[in-house]
Amino acid sequence: MKTNYWSVDINVDIKNNYPQVVEAAQYLKEGEVVAFPTETVYGLGANALSDKAVAKIFKAKGRPADNPLIVHIANVNQLDLLTKEIPETAIKLMNEFWPGPLTLIFKSKPDAVSSLVTAGLKTVAVRMPDHPVALALINAAGVPIAAPSANKSGKPSPTMARHVLADLEGLIAGVVDGGPTGVGLESTVLDCTPEVPIILRPGGLSKEEIERVIGQVDQDPALKHSESSPKSPGMKYRHYAPSAPLFLVDGDKAWIQELIDQKRSSGVKVGVLAPEESASFYKADAVVVSGRRSDLKSVAHTLYQALRSFDEKNLDLIYAEVYPLQGVGEAVMNRLEKAAAHRRITQVESEK
Ligand code: AMP
Ligand code: MG
Repeated sequence: MKTNYWSVDINVDIKNNYPQVVEAAQYLKEGEVVAFPTETVYGLGANALSDKAVAKIFKAKGRPADNPLIVHIANVNQLDLLTKEIPETAIKLMNEFWPGPLTLIFKSKPDAVSSLVTAGLKTVAVRMPDHPVALALINAAGVPIAAPSANKSGKPSPTMARHVLADLEGLIAGVVDGGPTGVGLESTVLDCTPEVPIILRPGGLSKEEIERVIGQVDQDPALKHSESSPKSPGMKYRHYAPSAPLFLVDGDKAWIQELIDQKRSSGVKVGVLAPEESASFYKADAVVVSGRRSDLKSVAHTLYQALRSFDEKNLDLIYAEVYPLQGVGEAVMNRLEKAAAHRRITQVESEK
């Protein structure tokens, strides 16, 4: 299949109502899948009401059928198509954070969207993306758009159109290039069906920001204990992993350098993932910088790009520094834990 490429300058093309986006929307109307930028990561969209269209998303990504999709809407009226029950907490959150990186889980209206979207669950995940191209595309398509991240399943999510093409060229009808995404990590997924809402996936919006608006929320215990099964089906899959095995290293720089030296002395090629503050300290086969420790949002912004870049470097193993679980640090560590398949080396433990 030929994959179309539409480049959009979000500041200039808006004056003409994004003609490229209108063209891309035509493919969505015809039941094809198209990748597009959002403020979190690039999404791979299809008409959420059509089984045939949604099936193409699963096929292109190689996504397991039991992993449901988030439905993207461009205005709150479209929510009426999807659910009959909008809890008070959800209304407060939508007023405050939509459009934005917050996905809300509602009880779904029977037969509203394709059952492939919900993976047969009685709930539906919905969000309104904060990106002019995403909103224009959904509006032009005229239907809610089901869209997971536009990567091959298991790979880091794409934060640039070229990442989408690296994974999916020839498998999808097109990609709209709106430049690099802002947040860099996926949305926070919050289940608002229980009395006290539960965070199923940490993401671009922090727990602290949510609690400021609706008071205390819970977190799916599976986020802390890898042995319990997660309420969000997608959270059980390995994700975001570079080809070389990645280990989290929890200790000071000198100790991390010793680990690197030990491995390299036996011919192992070692990469390091570190923030600007410490990157220049390390001597390794590759050092990849992702943001600043003093600004965890900057780490989130470049994390996936950094993880992807390791695959070009022909390494045997990767060490990654860890971050505090505060603000967006919670989501950064969730993705790094998955990329590492929870492998962690701790200085205190190793010095016992
Ligand atoms: P992605 O689209 O790749 O960002 O992944 C969407 C995430 O939302 C996955 O972790 C899904 O399992 C989760 N999700 C989507 N719909 C639901 C739902 N109805 N209930 C719980 N989790 C959901
Ligand atoms: Mg994904």
